Amino acid sequence: MKLEDPFVKVTGFDRENLLFEVRKPKDKMAFISSYLKDKKDMSGIIYASTRKRVEACYKYLKKLSYNVTFYHAGLSDKDKKKNQEDFIYDRKNIIVATNAFGMGIDKSDVRYVIHINMPKDMESYYQEAGRAGRDGEKSDAILLYSTQDIVINKYLISQSSNKAYQLVKLQKLQTIINYVNTNKCLRAFILEYFGQDAEKNCNNCSNCLDDYEKIDVSLDSQKILSCIYRLDQRYGTSTIVDCLKGSNSQNSKEKI
Ligand SMILES: [Zn+2]
Repeated sequence: MKLEDPFVKVTGFDRENLLFEVRKPKDKMAFISSYLKDKKDMSGIIYASTRKRVEACYKYLKKLSYNVTFYHAGLSDKDKKKNQEDFIYDRKNIIVATNAFGMGIDKSDVRYVIHINMPKDMESYYQEAGRAGRDGEKSDAILLYSTQDIVINKYLISQSSNKAYQLVKLQKLQTIINYVNTNKCLRAFILEYFGQDAEKNCNNCSNCLDDYEKIDVSLDSQKILSCIYRLDQRYGTSTIVDCLKGSNSQNSKEKI
């Protein structure tokens, strides 16, 4: 553009107004309904990994009388357009969607983005979570995950016949697995992943805000691993637990 001495500004990756939260609830739907209780009139996006899960969550919230719509690639073009516009023009304030939703959407007052399932990598997660709070107002980015999410993501990657592709995808998946399991500041984790320096404590993420106690479980871990090893790695959780607890059950006596 032949600009002479233009003003150059490189903004960072940080989104200070977003509160990052990671949870592993036993019942994700119960978590969502409790979270939404005092947010009935706020705009929010709920991402789920499959069309089936999108529809299940949509039906669940509709039953609870939320003003909700949904979006996934299986809808007709007409329905996609309608549901998307219902959300953008505030006729519906919650949209449950797969990651097919969001490209080119610029709705500034989205107060929360919840992921019901763990996304496949940090890039997807940060892009989708970043659709919250574009107006700079306080907003939440919440990631709910379960062990099953990890298993499913690994299975999907294993379906590819390209080994090099699999390796890259598994490494990326591992980063987000580390994100949901870390006890360090979530914002610092994200910023460092994207190559930016960060403060150790942001005071605006679930790890910085939660009270928890650090306990050294090295000795217990050693006992568990040793027991698994001595039983030739042949038994499941309940037998290992029985052995470690010194259970008198016939089953565990036979194995010991
Ligand atoms: Zn933090």
